[in-house]
Amino acid sequence: MKEIQLHDKIFEPYIDAEKIDAAIEHLAKDLEKYAENETLVFVSVLKGSFMFTSDLAKKYKKPVVFEFFRLKSYEGTNSTGEVNVLMDIDEELVKGKKIIVLEDIVDTGNTLEKIYEVLESKQPASIKIATLFFKPKAYNKSLPIDFVGMEIPNDFIVGFGLDYDELGRNLPEIYKLKEVKKRRTVDIVLFGPPGAGKGTQANILKDKLGLQYIATGDLFRHHIKNKTPLGQKAQQYIDNGELVPDEITIGMIKELLKDPDSKGFIFDGFPRTVEQAQALDEIMAEKGLIIDALLSLNVPEERLVKRLLNRGKTSGRSDDNEETIKKRLQQYHEKTTPVKDYYANQGKLYEINGVGDIDEIHNRLMDIINNLKLNENKPK
Ligand code: AMP
Repeated sequence: MKEIQLHDKIFEPYIDAEKIDAAIEHLAKDLEKYAENETLVFVSVLKGSFMFTSDLAKKYKKPVVFEFFRLKSYEGTNSTGEVNVLMDIDEELVKGKKIIVLEDIVDTGNTLEKIYEVLESKQPASIKIATLFFKPKAYNKSLPIDFVGMEIPNDFIVGFGLDYDELGRNLPEIYKLKEVKKRRTVDIVLFGPPGAGKGTQANILKDKLGLQYIATGDLFRHHIKNKTPLGQKAQQYIDNGELVPDEITIGMIKELLKDPDSKGFIFDGFPRTVEQAQALDEIMAEKGLIIDALLSLNVPEERLVKRLLNRGKTSGRSDDNEETIKKRLQQYHEKTTPVKDYYANQGKLYEINGVGDIDEIHNRLMDIINNLKLNENKPK
């Protein structure tokens, strides 16, 4: 087995034919045991289950009736997904019978729920599920999966009936999508209270290192200026010096990081809560990426207030006034400082003295960045 290409993607060998065969063999045995003296009805879910159904049929030694069922699922951007029946079941075959649904793979369980719903309406005596592959990490439904050939991690697989955009079904083995990682330099979070100088320093670093600069505050202000729905949602929180709710902020970041084409990210003003930090780790991990360091700029509070009030004279920002500044600092202490512990626990927290001139502070940051031991899995 060697790597193959289907459409635009490369897949690598994952599960060989022998292992698949052994899994189907034990499924056949388990189903024979379950059947006792009854004739089961195997309902094969097309198209993916055709190979599995055929191999199982050859190994299953008791009388059995076959029926076929075809659905089409439309997994848009929302995870609920819509599922339609393309080829329905003959009610006469299943009414009052013990049904076994044959699935090639169960992941989220969305399709399975729909199958269950349709089958139940045909009044069988019982419905059990037999799947060749099961992704327990992806499964988010409560229907029991009664017979499992093999549990697999949450990888995208093809072969043995499973496809990538209709190709790959004829492969006798299973292949998984090969992660193609992009060349990256460094991914960092520039951290600190309002007025710590994050924006100034991040802008210099982004140019010097060729990083993609992501400042949630700037993004929100951009949305507000353009009167987008997101801007309208965020405005009242920003004007009050409160944090915009996590679901809005995380949603915005998810959208932005969909297709990372940069050499690295520099985040400014994000994450501001532990929930955001966790979400960022997850979003990055999905792309095979990882945050290397949180660089925290320390500046005494009275200096922060002075800097922000000064900035307020020219920034035109609705939140650079004495009352809102107080509120923003309070929010920082309550909700944002725990983010430091989150990164400290991962060994990624670096504290930097944020008092001094711009070049001095920049050099302190560069010293740390140059000495970062980048994660070994990071593509070079
Ligand atoms: P900044 O420009 O970073 O000072 O952010 C200005 C304001 O935008 C903050 O006071 C919050 O209201 C909002 N904001 C920016 N980033 C975040 C974030 N990560 N989470 C929640 N609210 C944020």
